[in-house]
Amino acid sequence: MQNRYFRDTILRWNRAENARQMPWKGEKDPYKIWLSEVILQQTRVEQGWAYYEKFVDNYPKIEDLARAPEEGVFKLWEGLGYYSRCKNLIHTAKYIAGERKGHFPDTYTEILALKGIGPYTAAAIASFAFGLPHAVVDGNVLRVLSRFFGVRTPIDTTAGKVELTELAEKCLDKVNPAEYNQTLMDFGAVVCKPANPECKTCPLSSRCLAYKENMVDILPQKSKRLVRKDRFFLYILAEYQGGLYARKRTGKDIWQNLYEFISYEFSRENEVSADWENITPILNAQWFKQMMGATKYTVVGLSPLYRQLLTHQNIHARFLRISLDAPLSDSGDFRFFPPHQLTGLAFPRIMNEYLQTKVHTGQLF
Ligand code: SF4
Repeated sequence: MQNRYFRDTILRWNRAENARQMPWKGEKDPYKIWLSEVILQQTRVEQGWAYYEKFVDNYPKIEDLARAPEEGVFKLWEGLGYYSRCKNLIHTAKYIAGERKGHFPDTYTEILALKGIGPYTAAAIASFAFGLPHAVVDGNVLRVLSRFFGVRTPIDTTAGKVELTELAEKCLDKVNPAEYNQTLMDFGAVVCKPANPECKTCPLSSRCLAYKENMVDILPQKSKRLVRKDRFFLYILAEYQGGLYARKRTGKDIWQNLYEFISYEFSRENEVSADWENITPILNAQWFKQMMGATKYTVVGLSPLYRQLLTHQNIHARFLRISLDAPLSDSGDFRFFPPHQLTGLAFPRIMNEYLQTKVHTGQLF
């Protein structure tokens, strides 16, 4: 009874009041739906919108994405973060264009088996593109359901996820899953928002348990508090005739496949307080002298502090810009890039922010 009321009420709200327009809404092409869903994971709609349009313009079909040079795809992704999403996107595009001759799978199980696609994205593609009865369960959906049905089980536990996924499946409109799923996500974004939900005008309020029992602020419940680790980097922009040294990040650490300038990571306990805020200790440090060898240089400047918040880390960075008299004799795995090549490299957001502010004299590239 309560499930049916919930479903009918939000669908009525959608038809009468929801004017939330987005370019992927109503889309039936599974490739474009997949693109939008991957872009929107961990990204706000306002930010993801422009990226979606850029991807569709540059790669209108999955074969275009599969054939594109990877550097170019990463460059287009630049600023979205969570680069493993982009890596999986390329992998899956190549798989579908090659092994499946461009045919996107059309069952939930096959879609779920694709790299980088979890239950949420599989349900979104299955319902939006193929009208299959699978409920999407994202953060918006978890919040609306846990509030309306008064579910206190923490949503970041297995028990909580199972309970709410079962509830989501029970509430699903199996005849019209695409509209229902989109409506529920919109409702969570527009009405039952994380902070300051619109309870006073909410069409569900007369039967909403969280509202009736004054639990709106405490639902949904979470069991863990997110702890972020602080990391401190010094990036050295060693410039020679307008070009810079950079390398592609590999390995398991953050920012895989993105480029970075010559870097040094300080540990907070030992080095940050002494070496962080002025140039002299940096220039005198053994690691810096080793890197420079006999090369003469002029210091252009040290930037203010830049910060970037990642899911599990707080990144703090300063940028030291130096002008070299000659190329470095031993730059390790850092390659020299002339100015025209630098513009094609994808950097993490914190580096782009520095480059865009052009804190020190002149244009970098
Ligand atoms: S009454 Fe408030 S808490 Fe309940 S569903 Fe509506 S907006 Fe969400």
